[in-house]
Amino acid sequence: MTGAEMHALVERLYPLCRSITGDGVRRTLEIVGESIALEVHEVPTGTEVLDWTIPREWNIRDAYVKDASGRRVVDFAESNLHVVGYSVPVHATMTLDELRGHLHTLPDQPGLIPYRTSYYAETWGFCLSDDTLNGMDDGPYEVMIDSTLADGSLTYGEYVVPGRSTDEVLVSCHTCHPSLANDNLAGIAVATALAQSLRDPFYTYRFVFAPGTIGSITWLARNRDRVDRVKHGIVLACAGDRGALTYKRSRRGDTEIDRVFAHVLTGRPHTIVDFSPYGYDERQYCSPGFDLAVGCLTRTPYAGYPEYHTSADDPGFVSAEAMTDTLEACLRAVQILERNRRYTNLSPYGEPQLGKRGLYGSLGGRSDAKQAQMAMLWVLNLSDGNHSLLDIADRSGLPFAAMADAAEDLQSAGLLKE
Ligand code: ZN
Repeated sequence: MTGAEMHALVERLYPLCRSITGDGVRRTLEIVGESIALEVHEVPTGTEVLDWTIPREWNIRDAYVKDASGRRVVDFAESNLHVVGYSVPVHATMTLDELRGHLHTLPDQPGLIPYRTSYYAETWGFCLSDDTLNGMDDGPYEVMIDSTLADGSLTYGEYVVPGRSTDEVLVSCHTCHPSLANDNLAGIAVATALAQSLRDPFYTYRFVFAPGTIGSITWLARNRDRVDRVKHGIVLACAGDRGALTYKRSRRGDTEIDRVFAHVLTGRPHTIVDFSPYGYDERQYCSPGFDLAVGCLTRTPYAGYPEYHTSADDPGFVSAEAMTDTLEACLRAVQILERNRRYTNLSPYGEPQLGKRGLYGSLGGRSDAKQAQMAMLWVLNLSDGNHSLLDIADRSGLPFAAMADAAEDLQSAGLLKE
């Protein structure tokens, strides 16, 4: 997928009213499923998942606040952010004073609609701009939310690219936000593009598209006996704003995925932060019972931009260029993971004579001959079974690909063993 195609996917998904359950998530997964063959799972309401229970399914058709003249002052049809997610149905007439406790605004950003949810406490409410609220008279108003909370299921999608190894790389992103582009339609678009780009990999790649928190908890509960296959993982979120990339380390902080992303981000503006038990679904994958090697890649992180969780996080806030850049960082990480191995030098007493094995000759005329030669010397010297190719790349300051190419040549010449 090109950047423009990722952006088009964001624009297409944007109007859907997603939540942690319901038809908006199903439709989202259907659309993603046009690009990759998603397996969609439905987990019934009431199912116990770790310490949680799958809630009732929420769906909404319409909602409004109408003034005495019949005009919709607040209209769900204009923006699905107008209704507090998981609002119970209501149909009543009330004055502004009676209504006020159910209205949410952002006084410091008076032109924007906030994003609010109430998944686990039964209530209802509307979100609107502070400007709209300030223009409302005392009422009365007709208040209507045509929603249902009923037994149903939680929906998540999974896509697997089988590898030569059963060891897995997990890529996870959340699917529960309604009309918000960076958080997290951009993450969904980048994950989809990454999934499409993998061909005959070494690792098995598992993509999980699930609602935040309850979705990853559900996935973990249903895969408890096989999560130890996950050797590396990344949570993708906020993948499309114009800020620099941010990588948040796994709970262990020194896993291979942490080192891979540190290497990928070297030499470009970026931030690396330590794990904290907040943010996105890395909280679940890195809960102490699982403690998976899963980091989180964003551009500007969680709550770090003024448009966060507001109507300003729209498709114009994310760019094709930024999503392409995020995708490229992921692809570089994949390229390193795929080739990062530990080798043993089979001729460790003195430097082996490279010339008689044709390893100098093969370099002749290459513009990167000097680098390739240095890469061979580094790989030979540090391949004592303790250093991975990534270790050697970091220590030598040479590109990882040069190390991997050198190791391939040396292995072919019988000088290295994996
Ligand atoms: Zn969010």
